[in-house]
Amino acid sequence: MHLLDLPSELLIALLSYLSARDLAKVCQTCICLRNLSRLDTLWRQKCRKDYKLKSNKSWNASYFEIYSKVLVKYGTLIGAWKTMMNCYGGLFNVTYCLGQILVEEYFATKYIQDNLKSVPWFSISLEDGEATVKCLQGFDQPHPGDVKFDQEEVADGRHTMTTNLICLSSHQEVNEDSVEFQRWMEQEKVKGTIPELLRIKWQLIRNQKHQLKLSPLALPPLTPDRIIQTGLFKGSYSAHGTELLMLSYSEEAHEIHLTKITGDPNVPAGEVSVYVDLRRPMILNREQQESLQTLRDIDTPDLPPEFDGNMNLSQPFIVPSQCEEREDCKDLPKYCKARYHSKGQIAAFGYQNPSFSNNHWVMFSEDVFGVLWLDLYSFSLFNRIKEEFKIENNLCHLQTS
Ligand SMILES: [Zn+2]
Repeated sequence: MHLLDLPSELLIALLSYLSARDLAKVCQTCICLRNLSRLDTLWRQKCRKDYKLKSNKSWNASYFEIYSKVLVKYGTLIGAWKTMMNCYGGLFNVTYCLGQILVEEYFATKYIQDNLKSVPWFSISLEDGEATVKCLQGFDQPHPGDVKFDQEEVADGRHTMTTNLICLSSHQEVNEDSVEFQRWMEQEKVKGTIPELLRIKWQLIRNQKHQLKLSPLALPPLTPDRIIQTGLFKGSYSAHGTELLMLSYSEEAHEIHLTKITGDPNVPAGEVSVYVDLRRPMILNREQQESLQTLRDIDTPDLPPEFDGNMNLSQPFIVPSQCEEREDCKDLPKYCKARYHSKGQIAAFGYQNPSFSNNHWVMFSEDVFGVLWLDLYSFSLFNRIKEEFKIENNLCHLQTS
């Protein structure tokens, strides 16, 4: 019996087991198989399975076209990414949006209570049957561009990607007199930020805008039975403004790690900002919290082995009077759910002489916690990021197979 003697439903079912690459090869064999392997229902499955594209609704194109013209080349971009090209780092998200692949950078704004701000970087759509890249930044936007990326395998099968956006129309020179710079300064400035530091940041992020090394942003596994769920947070970092951090647990779950997704010239992106020692909770009264000196002297021993993590640790909370008052920290709750010893990383400009200083990690709720920097006379507040990032990207492996 010949393969083509099979009923077409059966042939289609067989074809659905093939990879996109093999399906494309079958296309080239004979007219009958070509017609069957071009069926859009098959390519819809491929788009969904390989690149998580759920609908071709606003693309005005068949799934076959989207797969072969756009996704084969650019589909690996889909997902959340971080960059650590310089100390400031950055968070990027690539999604399907209204018939295009949209690459956006996410920023924290002045106030940690606010939603993140997203700024489009470039898009890829299908125009006249061809993938078309458009730069969405600069003066004359959108303007045509091209994007090249190289994948590089790093440790344990993970990949980084260097994305190079080439604009076919040059960007207007943006200097410090420009409206764009003024607007950016206004947006970054908070009480305590230093204009000189902001100027350095502006220069660095400007120069590297079009070429970025991205690594997949991996979300640690969810932790329903632990004191606080893993995830992304915004935190107030005094002179440096708002920064983005990832909360995760150490392997033995004795520690919480707050790792910087965005950083600053003192402690850069990628470094752990705070280690919380979950074996050293404390319960303090109001009087003990009035002075930083008293707080510095408090030392609690490691937990006894019988501690099961279910002890009620709720207690009063106040910010010591010597601490600088930050706008974010007004109207803080009078009680917290738990308080632990922690260590915070500090360093001189340029990440010189990094060291750890004692501080207290104060949890108010599942979404809000604070860090009292005992030696820096300051209290930082952190708020959970509510935006959802498609973290299950790691589509990278597909291209290399
Ligand atoms: Zn451009």
